[in-house]
Amino acid sequence: MLRQESNGLVTYHFETLRVEGLVHAVFTRLGGCSPVPFASLNVGRLVDDDESNVLENHRRIYAHLGLQPGQVVTTRQVHGNRVAAVDTPDGARIVPNTDGLVTVTPGVALLQRFADCQPILLYDPEHHAVGLVHAGWRGVAQGVARRAVEAMHQAFGTRPKGLVAGLGPAIGPCCYVVGDEVAAAMGYALPDWKAVMQLEGEGQWRFDLPAANAQQLAAAGVRRIEMAGMCTGCNVDEFYSHRAEQGKTGRFAAVAYLQPRGAEQAEAVPTKTRKQADDPELAPFDSLHPAGFPAFDQGADSQ
Ligand SMILES: [Zn+2]
Repeated sequence: MLRQESNGLVTYHFETLRVEGLVHAVFTRLGGCSPVPFASLNVGRLVDDDESNVLENHRRIYAHLGLQPGQVVTTRQVHGNRVAAVDTPDGARIVPNTDGLVTVTPGVALLQRFADCQPILLYDPEHHAVGLVHAGWRGVAQGVARRAVEAMHQAFGTRPKGLVAGLGPAIGPCCYVVGDEVAAAMGYALPDWKAVMQLEGEGQWRFDLPAANAQQLAAAGVRRIEMAGMCTGCNVDEFYSHRAEQGKTGRFAAVAYLQPRGAEQAEAVPTKTRKQADDPELAPFDSLHPAGFPAFDQGADSQ
């Protein structure tokens, strides 16, 4: 990723996603107004930081990106696998019970919050569509990254092999030892769970979350994946880490939105052009997934 600094705000950008018509940034904890332990650009509303600080931090992020608050859609993240397609910028909306957002509408800005879980940016250059996913181990276990690919396929006709994925700063294997329950969950969720789990001792596994998300995306047919290679636990000077800071910390933001793209902006955007079942690319992975997960929701009501 490329690092940029401007007016005290430090942001990172995927090199393969610096393309016309896509604005994206992974913010750090630098450049905000929150005090320790939330210092300083905390966007988490549920971490005991003062609400006025959180609002001011959002204001700085929006100003940095040239956004109005009314353009931003965000989620109440629950470590689940629900993905919402959003097409209207209807005013600082919070979509409940959702960990992935996708849109094809220029000007609708997607924002999510992180502290060890992984930001995943998905961009479809063919249909000029974007997605933003929050994926920790529970998200991997429930296939949230794969569901986001499916959601873009269902809503916009996205072909997985055409997607460009950016996997942002997240807790790395250097800082992440988990229990048997996580290893077992990866056994269900991934084609090759042993590639992301290293036995450390009795009931202890060293887990590579970014590799797990990458494996899941690859299994869903995504071929171009950029890995940030930055561990939040090793870099608490720039990022928040729930683990490294014993749960007393803030959340950093990842934001993405589309701008109209040249001559294509006037074209009608096809929605639901193909059914998922029509695409053999997505079929093999389904068998790896336990049944019973909630279906992808086309849009969602605001709270
Ligand atoms: Zn680390």
